[in-house]
Parts: sequence; structure tokens; C-alpha cells
Amino acid sequence: MHLELRGITKKFGDFVANDDIHLTIEPGEVHALLGENGAGKSTLMNVLYGLYQPDGGQILVDGEPVSFSGPNDAMAAGIGMVHQHFMLVPVFTVAENLMLGHEQTRRRLLDRKAARRTVEEVSQRFGLEVKPDALVETLPVGVRQRVEILKALARDAKVLVLDEPTAVLTPQEIESLIEVMRGLKEAGTAIVIITHKLKEVRAIADRVTVIRRGKVVGETTPDASEEELAALMVGRPVKLEVDRAVAEPGEVVMSTDDVTLLDTDGTVLVDGVSLDVRRGEVVGIAGVQGNGQTELTELLVGLRTPTSGTITMTGEDVTKLGVAGVLDRGLGYAPEDRQHDGIIAGFSVAENLVLDVFDKKPYRRGPSLDFGAIGANATERVAEFDIRTRSIHTPAGALSGGNQQKVVLAREMSRPLDVLVLAQPTRGLDVGSIEFVHRRVVEARDGGTGVVLVSSELDEVLGLCDRILVMYRGRIAGEFASGVSADELGLAMLGAAPEALPSAVAVPETKEEAS
Ligand code: ADP
Ligand code: MG
Repeated sequence: MHLELRGITKKFGDFVANDDIHLTIEPGEVHALLGENGAGKSTLMNVLYGLYQPDGGQILVDGEPVSFSGPNDAMAAGIGMVHQHFMLVPVFTVAENLMLGHEQTRRRLLDRKAARRTVEEVSQRFGLEVKPDALVETLPVGVRQRVEILKALARDAKVLVLDEPTAVLTPQEIESLIEVMRGLKEAGTAIVIITHKLKEVRAIADRVTVIRRGKVVGETTPDASEEELAALMVGRPVKLEVDRAVAEPGEVVMSTDDVTLLDTDGTVLVDGVSLDVRRGEVVGIAGVQGNGQTELTELLVGLRTPTSGTITMTGEDVTKLGVAGVLDRGLGYAPEDRQHDGIIAGFSVAENLVLDVFDKKPYRRGPSLDFGAIGANATERVAEFDIRTRSIHTPAGALSGGNQQKVVLAREMSRPLDVLVLAQPTRGLDVGSIEFVHRRVVEARDGGTGVVLVSSELDEVLGLCDRILVMYRGRIAGEFASGVSADELGLAMLGAAPEALPSAVAVPETKEEAS
């Protein structure tokens, strides 16, 4: 099936999100759609999927103009889409989710047997392994995504749109997704993939179209260098490597001493972690997702209280202070799940930029808030962090994901800090924004802040950290100086024995196995 978007224009009010966009999609090709956060990529794909009606232009299937009044029309024409934010029903099984919307019924009951058979048949045909009876809420994110893909394929998608499919996947899950995409391509399915990861583009794409501020600004091939792709996206040269001098660590600003966290059912989430963070260094916490990094982060910022062990900040015991207590003492925190923990979606950008300090000077004047000061701060931060928003009064929830993240970072990184804890700070950000955030992290470090960076992006950890701690099954499985190879770090993340890690500086001794 040959697909053409001809002169698509889409407006939101007077804002032009897609401006006369032309795009063709050939059978069996992987077409990468690149662009900054807010460039209009998701909007264009939502037009193709029938979710939005274009204000101008046409969609042509095999040369014939079509009009989609909703996703069902698009699906009937052979177009499937996996959204940036998944749309599965968590409490349903895989089979039930696959059948939603086109239930196979037998005597007006959902025919579960037929549903299971379809799942098995489709998952076999495309080599996508899933268990039909598994509850979606129990599945890791990579498997959920596989279910979304299956769901599209079960309806005979000839063109599959994947909107930032790898943003939340582990490196292993990304590998397996790339394999899946190769298989689909061989079977003749066309794929449109939106991603910010230029390595992936180069690994899998046949053709690349770049959109900037709603317009197509270029088409290229994946043999373009990462620098060329980045420059085309952002409209200026981008530095992909982080510029930083050798760290000059000072005194310890935060430390944990034998900190352990048990789950309510006794599962060990964090297992005897002792670490120090000094002023003027970036300490990386790397690991495959689910090895205790998230929980360790939550302990550091006071969201959880350890089952045993102590946490200190600038010499003071903060183990039981809670999050307000540590924020008050000079800790900044950018959480992993920005939509839930980082912003209040219904509050304006300006309000979100002062969330944890609105009750202090200069934002508070007597018993009331000083909206002038709050607005002035917002205007400054929006310019400085290049937050793409129509106004400082726009609700933060209306911003694109990358711009929501910039709001969180702008708020947390704009006051003097002893400790800065960043969890997956650049997830979903475009290359230009990543360059900016990295530069700010190095500036914070050089200004004497102790930075903890939790990231599952190996490139980010390697580029930014002065020391790297690898977590494996709740423990610190190894410590590395910056300059360690990605291969060795990858091995440590998979739990390799200390002998296999020649440059680990201090693999902590294994405690006596208490049973
Ligand atoms: P991308 O996917 O390239 O990051 P989007 O297509 O999501 O960008 O958004 C493009 C622009 O359109 C952004 O500035 C965004 O704020 C705006 N936008 C997207 N959806 C809506 C909407 N439903 N209402 C108003 N503005 C929107
Ligand atoms: Mg998008």
C-alpha cells in the first residue's frame, strides 16, 4: 500500500501545528520522522490516524483520496498506530485488550477462546511473543508495547506508526523492538517511527524526514551523520558530546550508610547501599530498570524512609525528614515520572515554575502571593530553558512531554543547591534540549553542587558522570571512573562477576548471605 500525505495543514486555534506537510510512505520502508519537541510530529500522525481532521490537504491511499472520520476508518484502510502514551486497559488481559473495539462475539458474549487464538496466531506470525492471559498491568513496559503493536497488526495494519516507541524502553527492549521492526519490514509492512534517538534512526530507517516548527525542512538518508541529523532537526549545529573539565570534588554533601529498603511483603528493594556524593561531582547511578535505582532515588529525596540505615545531607541526619525537609535543606529533584510527580497539569506554567517555593520570598508578600514576581520568574525561565509554550499562563498539562520536562528542570535547577537528584532527566527530550540540560548539569557541578544522575541511557551516563555506580538487584554491583567502556558498564548492569569487570574501582564485598 502506497500512502501519501499531500499538503496537510492542522491548526489549533490560530496556532499552526502542521503547515502544508508532504510525506509519502512506501510499502516495506521504515520512514523516520524527526523533529524537536513540539515540532508537530504527533499531530501529523494523529491526522493520518483519523484522530484529527486536517484544516487543509489530503490523504491518498494508492493514489485515491480518502477521508478518515476516526481511527476506525484509518484502521480499516490498513493504518495502525502505537501512541506515545499507551492506551491499553491495565486490568484486562492481553487477549481482552486485543479484542477491545472489535470483539469477536458468540451468542453476544465475548468469545475468549477465539480471542486467545487470534493472539496466538498473530503473535506467531510476526514472532512477537506474548502470553494471552497475562494481565497488562503486570507486564513490563516493553511487553506492553509489544501488545500495542500486536493490536495494530491483528487488524491487518499495512502501515504501522510508532510514536516515540523507545523513549521508555531499556536497551534490551530496544534491541528486541528493532528486531521486530526488521521482521515487519521483511513482511512488507511500512513503518513510520518517531524517535529522538539518532543511533536508532541510523540502525533501522530507510528514509528520514525532518520537521521543524510544523514544516518539513528536509529529507535525508540514514547514512547522514548524527551531527547532520541533529543540526537539521534543531536548525543549528548541536554538540552531541558533553563538554566538561575533570571534576574537582570537594566535601561530601550527601551520603547513605548501609541503607536498606524492604517492600511491604519483605522483598528487598535496596540492599545495604552506602555511597557518598561530593560537591562538584556528578555521580551516575546506572542499571537495567527495576534493579532498585528508582527506589534508591526515592530514598535520597525523602519520598521513602529506609527500613534501616541512615542518610545524611551536609552532615545532618535527614533519614526521616521527608521530601519537604530535604527540599528545604537545598536538594533539587527532577523525578522520573514528570507527569505524576513533576508538574501539576492543571496549574499554569508560571505556577509550576514556583511549586516548591511559592510560599517564600519573593513570591509571597504578606498573606498573599506576588503574581508579578511569579510572572517575571516565569518569563525569564521560559526564555532561558526555551520552553515552547503559547504563554506562561497555559496549563502545564497542555505542553508536549519534552516541554513539561523542561518546566521541571527549570524550576529545580534555578536556585542554589547542595544536592541535585536527576532521574532520567532527558527522557523524551530532543537533541537540542539534551545539549542544553547537559550543559546546565555541568554548570551546577562546577558551581559546587553534588549531582546524582540516575539514567538508563548509557551514553548519557558515560558523557556526563565523573563516577558511575552500577546497581544490580538492589545492590551497588560496581563503581567505575568516567572513561569506562560502554561494554564493561553493560556487563556490570547485567550482573557480571567482579572478575569480568577489570576497571571496577571498588566492587563492594558481598555480605554474608543471611538466610
Ligand atoms: P511533537 O510530537 O512533534 O513533539 P506535537 O505534534 O505533539 O509535537 O505538538 C505540536 C504543537 O502543537 C505543540 O506546540 C503543541 O503544544 C501543540 N498541540 C498539540 N496538540 C494540541 C491540542 N490538542 N491543542 C492545542 N495545541 C496542541
Ligand atoms: Mg509527540
